[in-house]
Amino acid sequence: MKIGIMGGTFNPIHNGHIHIAKAAFDDAKLDKVLFLPTGVSYMKQGVVPSFHRFNMTKLAIEDYEYFDISDIEVKRPGFTYTKDTIEELKAINPEDELYYIIGTDTLYMIEKWYEPQYLFSNLIFLVADRGDENSKLKAKELSERFNASISFLNCDFLDISSTYVREKIVNKEYDAIASMVPEKVLDYIKTNRIYDELSIPEIIRILKEELPEKRFYHTIGVRDMAVSLAKKYGVDINKAEIAALLHDCAKYMSLDNMHAICNRYFFNLTSLEAVNEGLLHSKAGACLAVEKYGIKDQEILDAIIYHTTGRPGMNTLEKIIYISDFIEINRKHSPKLPEYRKRVFYDLDSVLIDVLYDCIYHVKSVGHDIDSKTEETFKYYTNKK
Ligand code: NAP
Repeated sequence: MKIGIMGGTFNPIHNGHIHIAKAAFDDAKLDKVLFLPTGVSYMKQGVVPSFHRFNMTKLAIEDYEYFDISDIEVKRPGFTYTKDTIEELKAINPEDELYYIIGTDTLYMIEKWYEPQYLFSNLIFLVADRGDENSKLKAKELSERFNASISFLNCDFLDISSTYVREKIVNKEYDAIASMVPEKVLDYIKTNRIYDELSIPEIIRILKEELPEKRFYHTIGVRDMAVSLAKKYGVDINKAEIAALLHDCAKYMSLDNMHAICNRYFFNLTSLEAVNEGLLHSKAGACLAVEKYGIKDQEILDAIIYHTTGRPGMNTLEKIIYISDFIEINRKHSPKLPEYRKRVFYDLDSVLIDVLYDCIYHVKSVGHDIDSKTEETFKYYTNKK
């Protein structure tokens, strides 16, 4: 079969994407076009989670019988590399001939992608150009250098970009994009408030209403500690404040609801997480941060995800949230806390190790199983010392 691949961040998908996929289907006489929303891009930050981009893409293509969608990229852990995707697709159907559909800007980027030679050797590129001569020259250069096969599609250029569409959505100027985005996609965006982010005062107002008083004051304590540490260690204060405020936002969800929300975001759960609300509230919290509070920043979401277990190679924001949760001013569980609260301002990593140790010791002493990630994290940082 001749399969067209329409890979994209699709943040959000729009009629320009559909238009070039249709043109590729007709021009190259393809059997079908497979839409592939990316998982985590190492090039684009602050993209809405894959769950929403996948759902929007599914809605956009459902009326076309020759379009299909695949979740292989959104389900694959780590950054998305097209090479991994192509290897997977070739392993499933080795006989298929694969065509990769792109716009002009992408043509200039592919040589910077991971293992471009592999891509040029295994894909035929179909380019929707904007009629400029430079892209023809670029294609010629790539063909010579990589022995690439690149053809240009016979289609008009629709002047639509996801950036423009997002700007209009944020300003609620829906009429300006009504002809640019499939109606079902626009409805989905509005219903799920995908591009709305709540302000910090609004987040605090909701948390105050919804969390028990003690948990709310703990949250504010984590926020105060995290913001002070962010200032000290040069971390984005806004990100630290939001991550701290939302770290426990899912603490009082039922285990069933935690599972439901984590499933929507393609999280793989460890066997211990699956039965333990105390652990699962971190991943569920990141999902709720997206769905309810409109948070899109992956660094904030990661800090929420790893605030209970830690992970090897944490960035400074993740360390700050992990530590602040344990040592904020309302915590009284250990006589060591006052010393940690001083030391943390000049030796973050040594406090991280002590807090990890205290956590493992406490969990084991009360007879509970410790999550393997916390033990891995402890080993990682003690070996690094
Ligand atoms: P995107 O913004 O959603 O765009 C998807 C494609 O549609 C792009 O080729 C884009 O071309 C084209 N397009 C958008 N609007 C268009 C319009 N009005 N007319 C014609 N074409 C239009 O997705 P993206 O972030 O560029 O990512 C594209 C793919 O590249 C994804 O599958 C991603 O995983 C892959 N990628 C792979 C690597 C890697 O493997 N290392 C690195 C980066 C990206 P333009 O670029 O011309 O807008």
